Amino acid sequence: MGAGPAGGAAAFTAARAGLTVALVDRHAFPRDKLCGGGFTGRSHQYFCEIFGTPPEPGQIETHHSVSFHAHGTDLGRIDGIPPLHLTMRRVLDTEICARALAAGAADFTGRPVARLDPEAGQVVLEDGAELTAPLVLGADGVNSMVARALFGQAFDRGRIGFGLEVEAPAAPDNAEAPVRIDFGAADWGYGWHFPKTCSSTIGVGGVLARNADMKAMMRSYLTLLGQDPDQKAKGQFLPFGDFRRVPGRGRTLLAGDAAGLVDPITGEGIAYAMKSGQLAALAAAAALREGRPETALARYRRSLRPMHRALRQARAIRLMIFARPFRGSFVAAFRRSGQLRHLYLRLLAGEIEYPEMARATLWRFPAFLWRSIRPGNRSGA
Ligand SMILES: Cc1cc2nc3c(=O)[nH]c(=O)nc-3n(C[C@H](O)[C@H](O)[C@H](O)COP(=O)(O)OP(=O)(O)OC[C@H]3O[C@@H](n4cnc5c(N)ncnc54)[C@H](O)[C@@H]3O)c2cc1C
Repeated sequence: MGAGPAGGAAAFTAARAGLTVALVDRHAFPRDKLCGGGFTGRSHQYFCEIFGTPPEPGQIETHHSVSFHAHGTDLGRIDGIPPLHLTMRRVLDTEICARALAAGAADFTGRPVARLDPEAGQVVLEDGAELTAPLVLGADGVNSMVARALFGQAFDRGRIGFGLEVEAPAAPDNAEAPVRIDFGAADWGYGWHFPKTCSSTIGVGGVLARNADMKAMMRSYLTLLGQDPDQKAKGQFLPFGDFRRVPGRGRTLLAGDAAGLVDPITGEGIAYAMKSGQLAALAAAAALREGRPETALARYRRSLRPMHRALRQARAIRLMIFARPFRGSFVAAFRRSGQLRHLYLRLLAGEIEYPEMARATLWRFPAFLWRSIRPGNRSGA
């Protein structure tokens, strides 16, 4: 269920593996999805690995400059960075869905689900159609109906993130403008300005429980960027580091946002959605080949281990970036250390994963801690 990056990648992979696949989505495509459209090097790499070829020309724009800001301090612009791609989800998701259908998945898009029975592997659509399968994949996003059916709630309100976003008119120099990231534009979160040809995507996102008034954060950020603070922003939950340790139950698996697979520092979710969709489909294919669908979840869980480990490490590093006592030290370290900035950019580009980032940063933690708590340090203010 769900034909976004997770469901589309899963349906494509499963159909290619010879399974009979129904791709169900309540929306017909093209459809909009609230998202910055940051399509990192990791997303690009996974897309190519999963679908065999890169996105169609014109679907992504590539930038080579980024400017960082943190808690009101300009940390400077960096040019010549590893490519950072931007996309519009309306376009990208339509292509992903089309690729899944072309691979052989049956088209049930534009057909909302009325109810599902995970135990029976049954999905009933609002138009009365009934689908029954040995395995069901919930790839239906952050408000996942499948996760609610399995666990009573789609996510934990105490840990979930939330993002607000506007599509502002494109500025004439958007093609050359750097991608802008503002750490701390929301508490335990950040702001972004993604300059695209058709629009400027501007947003703030962070841990919901720490941002009682996210709308005020958004207004301040729009004002900071010289934009109309009163333009209407759209909002959506974001599973910002709140992944499900067991991504499913019985013969029902969860992938992408439905499984909470979003980077808790960068908010990146497209890459993890596609990858987890692929891994779920491979696990399903292997289990069904053996005639033991009940083993799919254990297989899938095993294959997700590296991703889970990376997201756990990201949560640890996030403390050094966002926790109030460390902020000043983080800003100073990020401004001073070319190596730290470089690591972050390589991480965004998908050239390294969090284990490497963790090895390079966590050993600095004692010194970092000392600088943060020593008398006279104003970082905790
Ligand atoms: C404000 C914001 C900005 C973001 N910016 C970025 C970014 O720049 N880069 C990045 O990598 N990630 C970003 N993300 C995260 C990213 O959008 C998600 O991680 C990603 O979309 C997850 O893909 P998915 O396939 O799991 O879910 P979705 O993309 O949400 O797809 C789920 C699909 O399921 C369908 N569906 C939902 N309910 C049902 C139902 N009951 N029945 C049938 N179908 C259903 C929906 O119509 C949808 O098509 C952002 C998120 C937010 C909120």
